Amino acid sequence: MKVLSKTDYILYRECPNNVWYKVHKPELYYESELSEFEKAIIETGNEVELIARQLFPTGILIEGRDAAAQELTKKYLSEEKLTLFQPVFMVDGFLCALDVLKFNPEDKTYSIYEVKATNSIDDKVHFHDLTFQYNVLKKLDYKVKSAHLIHLNSEYVRSGELDIIKLFEIEDVTPAIEDLSEYVLNEMDQALHYVSAEAKPNGFCCCIYKGRSRHCSTFKHSNPQVPEYSVHDIARIGNSKAKLLEMIDGYIYDLKDVPEHIKLSDIQRNQIDAHTLDRVLRHKDKIAEEFESLTFPLYFLDYETYPCAIPRYDGFSPYQQIPFQYSLHVLDSEDSEPKHYEYLCTDPCDPSNMFAESLEKVIGTKGSVIVWNKSFECGINKKIAARLPNYQALMDAVNGRVYDLEDIFTKQYFVHKNFKGKTSIKSILSVLVPEHSYKNLGIREGGTASQSWNELISDETSAERKNQIISDLKEYCKMDTFAMYAIWNSLRKIL
Ligand code: SF4
Repeated sequence: MKVLSKTDYILYRECPNNVWYKVHKPELYYESELSEFEKAIIETGNEVELIARQLFPTGILIEGRDAAAQELTKKYLSEEKLTLFQPVFMVDGFLCALDVLKFNPEDKTYSIYEVKATNSIDDKVHFHDLTFQYNVLKKLDYKVKSAHLIHLNSEYVRSGELDIIKLFEIEDVTPAIEDLSEYVLNEMDQALHYVSAEAKPNGFCCCIYKGRSRHCSTFKHSNPQVPEYSVHDIARIGNSKAKLLEMIDGYIYDLKDVPEHIKLSDIQRNQIDAHTLDRVLRHKDKIAEEFESLTFPLYFLDYETYPCAIPRYDGFSPYQQIPFQYSLHVLDSEDSEPKHYEYLCTDPCDPSNMFAESLEKVIGTKGSVIVWNKSFECGINKKIAARLPNYQALMDAVNGRVYDLEDIFTKQYFVHKNFKGKTSIKSILSVLVPEHSYKNLGIREGGTASQSWNELISDETSAERKNQIISDLKEYCKMDTFAMYAIWNSLRKIL
């Protein structure tokens, strides 16, 4: 029998196939590197757990998961230590470490606490996670009096020193965990048997019925018949379950094989036609109409932000974005050369004021502000205005001038087979202006930019590394606004 950790049990609940690969074929499971987004989730989880430990000032940390850590746990429990962080338990092939275990000396019972770096409870995942721990302790005959989830309080707004008590919410979920206990116990047994099988059980890869974004790294191994660009890449097909089911059950994987009778939205049908007929769809009149609504000077604007789980500065709540950089290309008239402006905060302080002050100097009072996915920049502007009422008028005015260039593509006024149903700035740039690319940049996507800024303002980062990050961040953000200008320019030329 293998050992089933709490993490693998949670993964099993998401997908048995996937966890089997993790245990038996780690080289396939870890084939693709973790994305910056995934790495950030792990780092944030560790950071939040560390801060949450301050809620239990007498806690003792146990490091590792091995036999020595398990022995140390037993020793401390026999000594009736009041609070342990990361005590490790193993029984019947089940292994888990608890975020916090508190001994209640009055009745010799225990309370368990699981820390989640989220603003609310996800009862489908968090309850099962906690119940696994509850069951392991019960199997070992420890009396568990209560079970709790500790998560961030989204209502908390930092003012001065971090208020640990207000930052977290502690929810007693004991009744829900007791109710789930039996069910989870059965599921734990099933999971342990599943991962222990030497040959991969005849598992069915249910993601074959889901859109591409839901597929894990092992999808191509379980589904070699599915081409790299397939019906799973049709725009928003994950939301059209019946249509995808009909195609998959009919063994239709290639876009060229999608029959006419399958009812698809115009957007989906256009994507397929563009691919199948090798046709570029251009609604020149619609694009011209959109462009006529723009007023010069044109301001191509892009922000980079860092979503900080633990509020670092006054006025911030958990996960509120810190705006640390902008890039702006300004075009005075149709045939002029764009001028570039930028701001990047390189110090460990709240950049909001300097960001807004700098923007005010270059954003002018008239002319369209062109962004890509306006809900993001407009949302950041609203938050800045809420923190800095002095800049309310500026931010309102900028938001009133915003035009979203991505609309041309989401509204399908221009469809190219090589967009492959995507409307991200990188997908569009690579087709319309292929001579410009993100490929050779030190930073190539927003998640990396965000993490790099966090590294930049850390005391532990060397001066040399800081210089490299500054240069990479500037290049990346500048590319975003230049790409918008270049896309606008290439569209203008076809009108
Ligand atoms: S693609 Fe989906 S169903 Fe298939 S192994 Fe990965 S997570 Fe599981």
